[in-house]
Amino acid sequence: MASVSFRHVWKKYAGDVVAVKDLNIEVSDKEFLVLVGPSGCGKSTSLRMLAGLEEITDGEILIGDRVVNNVAPKDRDIAMVFQSYALYPHMTIYENMAFGLRLRKVPKNVIDEKVREAAKQLQIEHLLDRKPRQLSGGQRQRVAVGRAIVREPAVFLMDEPLSNLDAKLRVEARAFISKLHQRLGTTFIYVTHDQVEAMTMGTRIAVMSAGELQQCDTPDTLYKKPANIFVAGFIGSPSMNFFDAKLHQEGGKWYIDVPQQGYRLPLPEDRWPAVQAAGAQDIILGIRPESIYDVHFPAANIKPAAIEANVDVVEQMGNEKIVYLEEKGKTFIARMDPRTAASIGQRMQIIVDTDNLHIFDQKSQKAIAH
Ligand code: ADP
Ligand code: MG
Repeated sequence: MASVSFRHVWKKYAGDVVAVKDLNIEVSDKEFLVLVGPSGCGKSTSLRMLAGLEEITDGEILIGDRVVNNVAPKDRDIAMVFQSYALYPHMTIYENMAFGLRLRKVPKNVIDEKVREAAKQLQIEHLLDRKPRQLSGGQRQRVAVGRAIVREPAVFLMDEPLSNLDAKLRVEARAFISKLHQRLGTTFIYVTHDQVEAMTMGTRIAVMSAGELQQCDTPDTLYKKPANIFVAGFIGSPSMNFFDAKLHQEGGKWYIDVPQQGYRLPLPEDRWPAVQAAGAQDIILGIRPESIYDVHFPAANIKPAAIEANVDVVEQMGNEKIVYLEEKGKTFIARMDPRTAASIGQRMQIIVDTDNLHIFDQKSQKAIAH
């Protein structure tokens, strides 16, 4: 068991490619930290530097209290599960799981005990004599995890371990890995490009974009208080809607004006001090699809503001309807009650919950007031 620290970590590849830029993350002992971001943002590079598979250009990485910059991968007390699983095709499942321990000259009876115990936990005991090609994708995935478990590392590293599974298996495997984390009580660092995976598994999530950490916090805080427009748009599905807008003060009250669409939304009083400090200015207004309601089916306890828009498309999902709205050339999305009668071409009365508006500085892209 151990904490992990990235301190001012940089990775530059030849040809001026900055893959990771001044990364700072403190992962507590026993935490399940998810590194998430779009493809190419530097997740794998960060994990591989921690594993010792990639040199660090600048900065420090610590496992526990120890700076590991110059420690060989095998001496870092970590185990890594790759997207490809990287199982040895000519070895049985048992041999695949035992291999790392054999290299470390662990006594045979101890290896046997650990492999059988891990296989039992992973429910793959009946597969130990098979070869990898005789297993399904989901079973192979468990073997890859099993091979990491038997090592009893201080830190588990996983790089998109579920990407090769179909959607249903992925949901099961997600729950399985979360339970495994609870049972083992070990530090996990888990890489994925999938924000749903990140939100459901992480105790904290580090969101990266273009080599830079954008925000590192709990799933709840990332959703409710995204620090900037990138995080706001990345977390949540469908994505947050964004509008060019202005802060406007009149008669001692604050409003958000959306000039292009002709909307004016009163800002709840608890947000006034923050926008007062920022001053009247150009902003980006963010409204999540789940904060937009059919006027006939608003949620309880919201602070409603009424607006109108045209209905472009309606998608029936069963438990909800995804409604594409349009106003003066701008399309935005709402997740509405399935009972809504919204139909294509209709002029629709809608309600926005002003308690859940997001306000960002247009220049810096950072949140002004949560
Ligand atoms: P992710 O895992 O988030 O998809 P990576 O960490 O693999 O992203 O890559 C981050 C950036 O570094 C990308 O722009 C990628 O092209 C670049 N990169 C990765 N590995 C190398 C390498 N060996 N040489 C040069 N550039 C690389
Ligand atoms: Mg990657």
